[in-house]
Amino acid sequence: MSALDPTGARRQEIADALGGVQERIAAACSAAGRPREEVTLVAVTKYFPASDAAALVRLGVQDLGESRDPEAGEKAAALGEVPGLASPTWHFVGQLQTNKANRVARYADVVHSVDRDRLVRALSHGAELAGRTLGVLVQVNLGGPDADRRGGVEPDAVAALADAVAASPGLVLRGLMAVAPRGQDPAPAFERLARTGERLRADHPGASWLSAGMSGDLEAAVAHGATHLRIGSAILGARPAAG
Ligand SMILES: *Cc1c(COP(=O)(O)O)cnc(C)c1O
Repeated sequence: MSALDPTGARRQEIADALGGVQERIAAACSAAGRPREEVTLVAVTKYFPASDAAALVRLGVQDLGESRDPEAGEKAAALGEVPGLASPTWHFVGQLQTNKANRVARYADVVHSVDRDRLVRALSHGAELAGRTLGVLVQVNLGGPDADRRGGVEPDAVAALADAVAASPGLVLRGLMAVAPRGQDPAPAFERLARTGERLRADHPGASWLSAGMSGDLEAAVAHGATHLRIGSAILGARPAAG
C-alpha cells in the first residue's frame, strides 16, 4: 500500500459517491443545455484526511478545495510528498484572516473568498513573497439569515474590489464566488450572482468564473451559469456540524 492510500472500503465509498455526483453534474448540464466542460468540480476535502484527498486525485479529480488554514496547507504538503501523485489545483474557499494570507499564498492556486481591500493587499504581498500567481474570486453576499457569518461584499461593491484585485501584482481576477442563503430557494440568489457576473465582465472580460453550488444546490447553480461547483459532503460524507 502506497502512502496516503485509504482502505479499500473507503476508496470504494469515495469512488461510488464521486460517480453519483458526476452523474448529477452531467444531468444538470444537459438540462441546462450547457457543455459538461464548462463546469469544474472542486471537491471540498475540509475535515477529511489527506488520504481521502489523495484518493480523489487518483480517481481523476484535478481540483481540491479547503476552507481552513493551517489544515489546508498541511494537506497540500502531504499530497505533494506522495510519489507519482498528480498535483491538484488547490482552491481556498473559506473565510480567510488577513494574517494567514502569506501562508495561504504559498500553497493555494485560487482563493474564492476575497471580500475586502485589506485581504487583497495581504494576498498580493503574499503572492509576491512566494513568487507565485494567485487566482482570485470576489465573494458576493447574496443575503439570507447567516450572510454575515459567511462573508462577501454587497453586489454593488463588487466593481471596486474587482478593480483592486485586477490592479494588484501577483493576483489574477478570475470572477465571483457565492454561497446561497441557507433554507431558501437558491435560484433567485444564483440569478443575482449571474447578473453581477455579467456586469463584472463588462469591465473585466477575463473574469468569467462563477463559483456557486454545493452538495445541496448544484443543479440550481448549473442552471444559472456556475462554472465551478464546490462539493464536499455529497462526495466524502457528513462532516462535523461546524463545517
Ligand atoms: C464546506 C464548503 C463547501 C462544501 O459544502 P457541501 O455542502 O459539503 O458540499 C462549499 N463551499 C464552501 C465555502 C464551504 O466552506
